[in-house]
Amino acid sequence: MEQFEKMPGIGYKTAQRLAYYVLNMSKTEAEAFSTAIVEAHEKIHYCKICCNLTDDELCPVCKSEKRDKGIICVVETPRDAMAMEATGEYKGVYHVLHGAISPLNDIGPDDLSIKELLARLSSDVTEVIMATNPTVEGDATAMYLSRLLKPMGVKVTRLAYGIPVGGDLEYADQVTLARALEGRNEL
Ligand SMILES: [Zn+2]
Repeated sequence: MEQFEKMPGIGYKTAQRLAYYVLNMSKTEAEAFSTAIVEAHEKIHYCKICCNLTDDELCPVCKSEKRDKGIICVVETPRDAMAMEATGEYKGVYHVLHGAISPLNDIGPDDLSIKELLARLSSDVTEVIMATNPTVEGDATAMYLSRLLKPMGVKVTRLAYGIPVGGDLEYADQVTLARALEGRNEL
């Protein structure tokens, strides 16, 4: 129960339920469960190019010949890359920063995989898309990177802000609405 309670989003009650579930597992299930945890730690590491998680030298996106290596989408976490991937719309590659600049939490540029991103920039890279979160930290990180990248002659874009699809203008907060207005497109 103590171990489960350390996990994100798990409170005392859920930890208790999971602990009982583990107790009821067969020996084979219990072994598969514990092996999965140990193997994840042993085998999963950062992709040599994009710093996403992988059990190989390169992740499937970096390995794929179908992906456009000239467009790099910069995200904060592997989960963000997965979310972009789920759209099925993006054909470029990723770069995972593993966080965002946050002076309050003592996270500076050196704590992120920025060196690795700079190392990827060659004349083949035509665009870098900032897909960090629309938060103070995410915006600061995007600004920091664009100041760093623009002088190198690469086009830097930022994901558009807007109203959620299926949403209602009336219920959108003022900042979101103002940003959506700012980033409007011609029809
Ligand atoms: Zn990769």
